[in-house]
Amino acid sequence: MEGPTNALVVGCSTGYGLASRIAVAFGCGSHTLGVSLEKEPEERRPASAGWYNNVGFERCAARRDLYAKTINGDAFSNQLKQQVAEVVRAEMRPIDLLIYSLASPVRIHPESGEMFRSSIKPIGNPLKSRTLKLNILRGTCEVENIDLLPATDEEIDSTIKVMGGEDWILWIDALQKAGALSQDFKTVAYTYLGNELTWPIYRGGTLGKAKEDLDRARDEINGRFGKSGAEAMISVLKAVVTQASTAIPVVPLYFSILFKVMKAHGTHEDCIAHMYRMIGEQIYQSNRRIDDEGRIRMDNFELDATVQDEVKNAWDSIDTSNARDLADISGFRTEFLKLFGFGREDVDYERDVDVHLSTSKQVTQ
Ligand code: NAD
Repeated sequence: MEGPTNALVVGCSTGYGLASRIAVAFGCGSHTLGVSLEKEPEERRPASAGWYNNVGFERCAARRDLYAKTINGDAFSNQLKQQVAEVVRAEMRPIDLLIYSLASPVRIHPESGEMFRSSIKPIGNPLKSRTLKLNILRGTCEVENIDLLPATDEEIDSTIKVMGGEDWILWIDALQKAGALSQDFKTVAYTYLGNELTWPIYRGGTLGKAKEDLDRARDEINGRFGKSGAEAMISVLKAVVTQASTAIPVVPLYFSILFKVMKAHGTHEDCIAHMYRMIGEQIYQSNRRIDDEGRIRMDNFELDATVQDEVKNAWDSIDTSNARDLADISGFRTEFLKLFGFGREDVDYERDVDVHLSTSKQVTQ
């Protein structure tokens, strides 16, 4: 399918970033440079899961003769941005698609050195809701009530600093100044909107404020570079199980109900299917599905009226006793285990493995 020639994926090791990298590399034949922050293996400790995802990705890319390099380090730092620009200049042609898919709890500001922490909290009023407490090892679950206090102004501002658009703009600036971006580059950052069950904790909460700041950043990038044919986009994605999303209160219960309903309708997609559809039908097409705020809507199947009615009905009657009937608990658990390489039928977990895997290309800053 039509796609980029040289893509940079910031946040490439897991979730939507990894899926985007897979979609452009194997769907479009793109050369890819990835940035992520993963723990590398130590003598007595394996690496974090995303490290092995990067190794696996690079090996698959090499089999197809696709350039793939991964830089492991803090994407928020000036130093890493410079390192990426140097790699692009030395080994690739200018980047024509920059995918910004970071999800991080902290950011050290590159100028002030101040550390900001994101909070996942409602704004204004306390939130009383429910979530799913899942014991991943045993497979048991409980639907439980949660009470969350609203964020302070400082927590809102810090969350915007971590998950908002400032760093996205700094990436564009650093690459553009170094001549590492094509004139007509495209760049896309990801957001989530969800429905009224998740609004108090997501869209109307601290994360939602940070995501609004992404819209501002998109407009700034388009204002500055649009004349030369460049384009910044925000894409609203569907709910999927990732390390970042499962840390959000309310979300595990809403997601597991949603998956059950979407699977019954035949519209459920995993990360890779979703990104493949986004690249194929939206990013490189002129007739995009755009909302009033100018965002690409990939959440059309999730927000389908019938799907949402069924989700809300299940939400109103779900409790611990009927959770397995009304929600896809085992699917949610399987997806969660797969994030860390477990729960796969094609893997023999009794076999010894070499945890010190690396590739010549995975560079740690
Ligand atoms: P994820 O946790 O799977 O991935 C986060 C990525 O960011 C990883 O590659 C990680 O290594 C990288 N990262 C974190 N801190 C870093 C740092 N300091 N330097 C370099 N790399 C760093 O998260 P995800 O759910 O795939 O989220 C990606 C984006 O998609 C986010 O913007 C998120 O809001 C958005 N999104 C997610 C969902 C969902 O349901 N998961 C839905 C819609 C939008």
